[in-house]
Amino acid sequence: MTRPSNPQFNQGTRSEIGHGVDRPYRGRFAPSPTGPLHLGSLATALGSWLDARAHGGTWLVRIEDVDTPRSVPGADRLILDQLQACGLEWDEAPVWQSQQTTHYQNALEQLITIDRIYGCQCSRKQIEEALQKEGVSIAANQELIYPRTCHDRKLPIQNHALRIRLPHECQISFTDRDLGKQTQDINTQVGDFVLRRADGLFTYQLAVVVDDHLQGITHIVRGEDLLSNTSRQIYLQQCLGYQTPSYLHLPLVTNDAGEKLSKQTKATAVDITRTESIRESLCRAANHLGLQNDPISGSITQWLNLKVQEWQERHFM
Ligand code: GLU
Repeated sequence: MTRPSNPQFNQGTRSEIGHGVDRPYRGRFAPSPTGPLHLGSLATALGSWLDARAHGGTWLVRIEDVDTPRSVPGADRLILDQLQACGLEWDEAPVWQSQQTTHYQNALEQLITIDRIYGCQCSRKQIEEALQKEGVSIAANQELIYPRTCHDRKLPIQNHALRIRLPHECQISFTDRDLGKQTQDINTQVGDFVLRRADGLFTYQLAVVVDDHLQGITHIVRGEDLLSNTSRQIYLQQCLGYQTPSYLHLPLVTNDAGEKLSKQTKATAVDITRTESIRESLCRAANHLGLQNDPISGSITQWLNLKVQEWQERHFM
C-alpha cells in the first residue's frame, strides 16, 4: 500500500501491529447513505469483511444516517443490494442510526452529569472571525479549532449546539494495525468538538462511538480519511467508560486528480446489473487493498474464500 503522509500524525511502523483486544471479533462496515457504493467504499467494505472472515469473526452493517438531511432516500437499500451482489453477507440485521437516538441522548446525559458538556451559540462565521482576531489564517472548508468562546458562558443545554469540554492536556495515542503508533493532542489540534448540533442532530463522533460500543465492535476497519477522527473517538470512549477497539485504516482510492472517490468527485457507482462489472469491481477493490489481481474464474464465493486466505497470510492479522 502507498499511503499519503498526514502531517497531523506521527507515522509509526508496521512492527506495532496488534492491539490486545481479548473479546470475540466483531467488525462492521458503516456507510453513510449519501449515494451508492463506488470503488472506494467497496474497497473499504471488502477490507472490513475480509478481516472479519479471516479472524472467524462476526461482520455487521450499520447505516450511518444520523445526519438525516445528507441522507439520500433509497441509498441505504441500494448499498445493501450492492453488498449482497458482491457476496459480502452480514451476520446480523443491519442497524440504522436514525433509530438509535435514545442511546445517543443517554450517552450525552452521562457526559452532562460529569460536566463534560457545554452549550455553544457560535455560528461558523463567528468562529472564523474570532480566530482571525487571534491571527489564525483559515483556508476554505478547513475544520476550525474552536476558540472556546462559549466555554464559560453557562448557556442552557436546550436549543444550543453542545460541545465536549476537553481537558488542557489531551494527548491520545493508539496503534493502527498498519500505520503503527498515532498520536494527536485533540485539545490543540481539534478543539472542543460538537456532539449535538443546534438543530438537535447528534454528530457522527458521538453516534459512532455509542453504536460501536452497543454493538460490541472489537475491530474497526475503515478508510484512512477517518484516521484524524480516531483520537476524538477514543477520548469519548474513555469518558463514557467504553472499551477501545482495535483500528485498521485502509488506503483511500483516488481518481486521476488524486482526489478521494466520493459523491462530490462524481465517483461512479458499482454497477450490479451486470455480473461482469460486479466481478471487475471486486477485483479492482481487492487489488487496491494490496491483494493479487487474479480474475474471478469460478464463483464469487470461491474467489472471496481465496481472498480470505490471502488476507490471513498478509501482515494484517
Ligand atoms: N459513515 C462513515 C462514512 O461513510 C464511516 C464511519 C466509520 O467507519 O467509522 O464515511
